[in-house]
Amino acid sequence: MPALSKRAASLGTENAFVVLAEVNALIRSGKDVISFCIGQPDFPTPTHIQDAAVAAIRGGKHGYTPSAGIDELRAAAAASMSKLRGIDIAPDEVVVGAGAKPFIAYAIASVTDYGAGDEVIFPVPGFPIYESQCLANGAVPVGLPLRESRKFALDPDELASRITPKTRLLILNTPHNPTGGLLTGQDLQAIAEVLRRHEQVWVYADEIYSKLVYRDENSSGEFTSIAALPGMRERTIISDGASKTYAMTGWRIGFTANKALAPVFTRWITNTESCATQISQWAAVQALNGPQDEADAMRERFRSRRDLIVRLLNAVPGFRCAAPGGAFYAWPNVTEACARIGAADSEELRRRLLHEAGVAVLADIHFGPRVQGDGQHIRFSYAASETAIEAGVGRIADFIKRNSRKPQT
Ligand code: PMP
Repeated sequence: MPALSKRAASLGTENAFVVLAEVNALIRSGKDVISFCIGQPDFPTPTHIQDAAVAAIRGGKHGYTPSAGIDELRAAAAASMSKLRGIDIAPDEVVVGAGAKPFIAYAIASVTDYGAGDEVIFPVPGFPIYESQCLANGAVPVGLPLRESRKFALDPDELASRITPKTRLLILNTPHNPTGGLLTGQDLQAIAEVLRRHEQVWVYADEIYSKLVYRDENSSGEFTSIAALPGMRERTIISDGASKTYAMTGWRIGFTANKALAPVFTRWITNTESCATQISQWAAVQALNGPQDEADAMRERFRSRRDLIVRLLNAVPGFRCAAPGGAFYAWPNVTEACARIGAADSEELRRRLLHEAGVAVLADIHFGPRVQGDGQHIRFSYAASETAIEAGVGRIADFIKRNSRKPQT
């Protein structure tokens, strides 16, 4: 067989999809597995959004669109992003893509040169595509650790220490996958302060979970974007989409806003998928412009499930879990649980939970190297029913109790 390129051979992946394949194979073989692996809402897409898609198909609106997206969606996304962030985004700054994910690659490829040693700083733990797209595009990945002691908000001093003259891009993600952590207004001010000393650095603000921020005694429930801070707007690529807010992961609609990069992203899309599916684009117009009560209700359900899962996880021997402020992920520290059952690390715990307890989760190493000194973590996506949460965490508690070694004397 002719050889593959080094790039193809070394291309990274999103391990959630790999574990999901393993879980699905187990389920097919008859095993009873409760899964907390995949980060997608478990609700159906609201009916009025479905209806808009059907109307688009019936109305003949199913051909190619301009690569940047239909004007109606660019305008709706501009209005929605402007409102949430308190800034004024024009429709021609917005580019629509097949999900938010492709823009990660487009952004890295648009601001770094292949093999030139250009550096991209991104959070660790973090969405694995940040690093894999750096490598695929010949940029140098520079991980920035997020620590439990800071509620997984990045440390501005650590950020400052990682910026060099070769730094081209900083990727921020708030609310954060996998920890559910938030960057508060104060955190973002401190980050902006650092960035003002480094004019050459673009910011990719991955804000796909921006409408999943929870109000409670620990948090105002307000979402803050770095793009709204003085001097940050021009250099910030805002990324958002329909997947998480409107239960539309499979419809593949994401959008970015940045004036300088909009024409560049448009050209990337012309070179790759041509345009996002027109049918989904019309559905997304309805999602953004139509009634928001179902999206609000889904967010409320996620908040109450968060409270449920955090309470249950904290009752599992050896688990410790702070309440995350957004997204739909819980990231308990399981260092002590690993020790109790003699598991070498979170990955061994994950495998044993899957095969011996029938519960599927992801391990911290699926999101980059473990942060030194922060112990072991696993990720739960609580976009699962209350019944699944109760049964799944119950199985874990039983498993840990059953397998706990006697304390050494
Ligand atoms: N960024 C982050 C942090 C995510 O978690 C995800 C989805 N898991 C995406 C981007 C991509 O979302 P989309 O479905 O819009 O491509």
